[in-house]
Amino acid sequence: MAETAPRTQETVHGVVLGGGLAGVLAARALRDHVDKVTVIERDTYPDRPEPRKGVPQGRHAHILWSGGAEAIEALLPGTLDRLRTAGAHRIGVKQDMVLYSAYGWQHRFPASHYALTCSRPLLDGTVRDAALNDPRIEVLQGTEAQGLLGDRERVTGARVRTPDGTTRDLPADLVVDATGRGSRLKHWLTTLGLPPATEESVDTGLTYATRVFRAPTGAPRPFPVVSVYADHRTGRPGRNGLLLPIEGDRWIITLSGTRGGEPTTDEDHFVDFARALRHPLIADLIDAADPLTPVRTTRSTLNRRLHLDRLARRPEGLVALGDCVVSLNPIHGHGMSVAARSAHALETCLRRAGGLKPGLARTAQQAIAAAADAPWLLSASQDLCYPDNRADVSDPRLTTLAAQRQGFADLVTSTSLVNQRVCDALTAVTTLTAPLAHLETPEFLTALRQGPARPPLSAPPLNAAEAAVLRRTP
Ligand SMILES: Cc1cc2nc3c(=O)[nH]c(=O)nc-3n(C[C@H](O)[C@H](O)[C@H](O)COP(=O)(O)OP(=O)(O)OC[C@H]3O[C@@H](n4cnc5c(N)ncnc54)[C@H](O)[C@@H]3O)c2cc1C
Repeated sequence: MAETAPRTQETVHGVVLGGGLAGVLAARALRDHVDKVTVIERDTYPDRPEPRKGVPQGRHAHILWSGGAEAIEALLPGTLDRLRTAGAHRIGVKQDMVLYSAYGWQHRFPASHYALTCSRPLLDGTVRDAALNDPRIEVLQGTEAQGLLGDRERVTGARVRTPDGTTRDLPADLVVDATGRGSRLKHWLTTLGLPPATEESVDTGLTYATRVFRAPTGAPRPFPVVSVYADHRTGRPGRNGLLLPIEGDRWIITLSGTRGGEPTTDEDHFVDFARALRHPLIADLIDAADPLTPVRTTRSTLNRRLHLDRLARRPEGLVALGDCVVSLNPIHGHGMSVAARSAHALETCLRRAGGLKPGLARTAQQAIAAAADAPWLLSASQDLCYPDNRADVSDPRLTTLAAQRQGFADLVTSTSLVNQRVCDALTAVTTLTAPLAHLETPEFLTALRQGPARPPLSAPPLNAAEAAVLRRTP
């Protein structure tokens, strides 16, 4: 029999399940609109920025695009400065990037947007410290969410298991599920008597293999982001490489391959895999650097979307955000930004409604779905191009309209390499600072029709100091 926590009637209580990035930002979003927020986190947070069990992806390369960074800053002013002070790099997009796309090398046009690069534990720890340092927010660590309380009309709280193994019912006026990719929300909803929510998925079978390196002595700081992407048009498995400069004069290098082209944890094969990419630049950089960690792999790269926004009947008192509702192939680097923009959307809905009013959960869930829509479409549509993908999609943009959309995407992306106006507009969309409709304006279509404004590049656009790194040995 579960214990029920005592409840004061006048106190408006928000409960957030999962204290990862989405969860702590959701706690911040709720803070000004309820009397008390309780965050339920299964892990114990580390004292220092280091990987933890509940966020296994934290060992892999994570880039935060400006659209996500601005959402974090809007919720927690000063956080970006604190991240920079702690060693995060601000990368000008595309000025501080050396990118080999499916269509060739990208010109390093002056930056129109930015990205932040640092280790995931540093990012999470900095955001967590800023978000949870508030007397209205209580965090129950070592506590596991086990289900929802209530019925199909209203969620009234959550059932949790405390560190001593006791089961406890926590009443709440609003429950936010932010338990990440492993969320059991779909099942929990059916236990309330609701029909199953529809789900879409695209799985390329992508495997990530990551290793952290000491940057070579004398390498420019920050070193540019370097990426070598697969060509999704070849009909062969896609293989990619990504180097991000992170705090502490380190590089985090992630290699990845779709089904049939996966990397392994074998340290000897790490550089070989990088050398077999469409260009050997990343392998040459690996040769110049000192490895600091073993190779770690993950296969948690499925695109999956749970359509809570489409439930004909949905209970009051429940919102879900982060990977719990939309998880994306990480190669596109959008998951954290979607989580941050969703938490910001939740805060905006609460502010506009003047707090937890009837209908708030539905409005907020629609705003969260809207924040995830473009990244979902970008990721799922590109991934449908890979062989052996396993897809279950119903969105017409991914079925009947897919070929037409992909043709336009190929034209825009190839032109963006050599035309700054097209590049800036596309960058605004891919950094999640502008909506997809930004690529449909008359100004944009005129720029697109103008085609290349510069000749294509035939080699990586490294400056002299960056190229000098390739001649060093560790
Ligand atoms: C390999 C990889 C690389 C990625 N690279 C990028 C990138 O470059 N850029 C980017 O923007 N995104 C990237 N992502 C996506 C990003 O990691 C996620 O989008 C982001 O972590 C989502 O945050 P979240 O809070 O929803 O989930 P998580 O960060 O996974 O947090 C979930 C939290 O819930 C807790 N929890 C889980 N179950 C329970 C429970 N039952 N009870 C209590 N607590 C629970 C966990 O301990 C954890 O703290 C990548 C993902 C992967 C897998």
